[in-house]
Amino acid sequence: MFTSRTVRSLDPVKKLVTDDTGASFEYARLLLATGARPRRLPFDVEGIIYYRTLDDYLALQKLKGGEVVVIGGGFIGSEIAAALALNETKVTMVFPDDGMCARIFPPGISRFVTSYYESKGVVVLAREGVAALKKEEGKFVARLRSGRELRADGVVAGIGVEPDRSLAHSAGLKTDDGIEVDEFLRTSDTNVFSAGDAASFFNAALGKRMRVEHEDNATTMGECAGRNMAGDAVAYHHMPFFYSDLFDLGYEAVGELDVRHEVVEQWKEENREGVIYYLAYGRVRGVLLWNTWGQVDAARDLIAQKGPFTAGSVRGKLPAKN
Ligand code: NAP
Repeated sequence: MFTSRTVRSLDPVKKLVTDDTGASFEYARLLLATGARPRRLPFDVEGIIYYRTLDDYLALQKLKGGEVVVIGGGFIGSEIAAALALNETKVTMVFPDDGMCARIFPPGISRFVTSYYESKGVVVLAREGVAALKKEEGKFVARLRSGRELRADGVVAGIGVEPDRSLAHSAGLKTDDGIEVDEFLRTSDTNVFSAGDAASFFNAALGKRMRVEHEDNATTMGECAGRNMAGDAVAYHHMPFFYSDLFDLGYEAVGELDVRHEVVEQWKEENREGVIYYLAYGRVRGVLLWNTWGQVDAARDLIAQKGPFTAGSVRGKLPAKN
């Protein structure tokens, strides 16, 4: 194993990779699990935590009890803000959307979660952005688009990621939003495989190519790629799920949680326990299991069904009937 090395070039014809020390390695089969890189803020200020590494975690620990600005209201923003608030830290969130996780939660849940955070002491500045950021006497000073100024001991930014396609691209492998793979996770060169955040695969149940940036996809796809690289021929037909815990609210989700789809809400207790279906073209494209547990496989089955489904007929397909 060679650590602290970066592969600089890949030659799929010679089946050779070369790293930043100039060392070359031949391969019979190669896996590109290059993942994704956090998007960076356009400010040249040291110490912004993008929350990718152990050092980021250790830096966050030191902020306990202080004041932290969290930029972004997606997965990292929502999880880190809750974790910090639970650790006696004063948190201010800044993001451009109307509410938290507004791309995946329907507006009602997004509003509820936002006010839930506020009730836990988090200051939520939605429809807001950071116009300038600097450090003054060891403190971060953020000037917001509205003109408001925030001073903090730390800044955490979770403003999305970019899949790392650079090696694949320079080697002439097919890329789109990610590194294109077939159902056996082979790239356009059959000796080179890809898996995880960077890999763009065809999902048969949804009938489209997708890239997934969550744990279940990374582990399941990695195992499948490993088996195929060792000579097996296992098709990757897995429908990945993802999950999160926001204070004492928790969810699991499967498929395409796109709020542009028709959203059907089925509550056992409003905003506390329910199932949300995302419908398009008569099919269930995604399911959000809101404090509803043990239903991930049933949600996968529902998404695989041809339907057709309507708002009326999909209600009650999974538990938490009202
Ligand atoms: P994300 O979930 O895509 O959220 C990005 C957020 O940042 C959105 O609210 C976005 O707003 C906002 N934003 C974008 N540019 C901004 C700017 N300049 N200023 C302020 N806000 C800005 O990405 P993430 O939270 O950074 O997470 C990174 C990756 O880690 C994702 O791939 C995610 O799937 C993964 N992750 C997953 C989990 C989980 O599965 N539970 C947990 C943590 C991380 P708009 O929507 O308006 O663009």
